[in-house]
Amino acid sequence: MMELLKQLQKKRKIIKVIFLITFIFFNYTSFLYAKVFSRILTIEGTFIQGGLLFGKTKPNSKIFFNDKKIFVNNEGDFLLGISRDEKKENLLIVNNENKVEKYNINILSRKYKIQKIDGLPKNKVTPNQEELKRIKKESKLISKYKNLFLDKTFYKSGFVWPVEGKVTGKYGDQRILNGKPRRPHFGIDIVASLGSKIISPSDAIVAFTFENTFFNGKMIILNHGLGLNSIYSHLNKIYVKKGDKLKRGDLLAEVGSTGRATGPHLHWGMNVFNTAVDPEKLIQNQPKF
Ligand SMILES: [Zn+2]
Repeated sequence: MMELLKQLQKKRKIIKVIFLITFIFFNYTSFLYAKVFSRILTIEGTFIQGGLLFGKTKPNSKIFFNDKKIFVNNEGDFLLGISRDEKKENLLIVNNENKVEKYNINILSRKYKIQKIDGLPKNKVTPNQEELKRIKKESKLISKYKNLFLDKTFYKSGFVWPVEGKVTGKYGDQRILNGKPRRPHFGIDIVASLGSKIISPSDAIVAFTFENTFFNGKMIILNHGLGLNSIYSHLNKIYVKKGDKLKRGDLLAEVGSTGRATGPHLHWGMNVFNTAVDPEKLIQNQPKF
């Protein structure tokens, strides 16, 4: 009798532990992924630093994320780019027909690695005065094309890898180039052989192509709508021109090592306007509406 009771207690304990694990798991995943906040607010995506969030609200609503006004299209779609160092607690305000609702958006923090790269030409790490002038001019132009607004939702076609290869540089890596600390890595590096074909990862319009920039070499900026853009750097050859309309999978360029590079690879960056997000997180968690 006692033996039976003991066994029963043991079983109960196991069931309790299983229940607890399931409970924690579902809470963790719901923290990370889709969230229905209310009748007028749903947000999909990865709630993590470097994550891209897809929002849905009533078409005539106004959205503010940490006091910043966010564009909402006629269908109620909007995008939130979560920066590399975004804080844990964020405030989202929905203003719908003069009714104001406030939501706390929790963002998970990440740990970034330190990446050391040696063997770069000295001027690509410590440019001279003339080169600094050129860099300033180019970054202004790049910023201009990243900030172009387009009231389209091309990104809804989903995302694939632009080229196959090993990811050697992750999003957010702290970088030490030729022994000197430099700004973090705001994209991912995919190693592939010289001339490998790069495709458009999603539907897009070509915002701009650059034939020769100091750091990025030959470079393309694509616009996927509602502020989302992507960049492709160190290219060997470019097959598209400004204004071209692309479908997911269309030929874009060839892998090269132009600009600041130690060998052939694609630097792939994704941004919501100027806020860099992690392309790998976007591939893992695709837009659902
Ligand atoms: Zn890179």
